[in-house]
Amino acid sequence: MSELLPLHDDCRRCGGQQAAPPSGFGEHAWMLCSACREPVTTWGEYKKTALEAAAKQLRTAYGRRYRG
Ligand SMILES: [Zn+2]
Repeated sequence: MSELLPLHDDCRRCGGQQAAPPSGFGEHAWMLCSACREPVTTWGEYKKTALEAAAKQLRTAYGRRYRG
């Protein structure tokens, strides 16, 4: 799998904004910056942040409707 994922926080070394998904997808597998190969976050952290961001987006988009 070679698809790159957008980072929530830029790479602290080079400012890159994409990372390669980890091989294996363990919770503690490191995701490496696509530009400089710096480990930027773990897969578990990435998923957690992505879910929180998605939930926030959904609340913003549909919150009013669901609240009645
Ligand atoms: Zn980088």
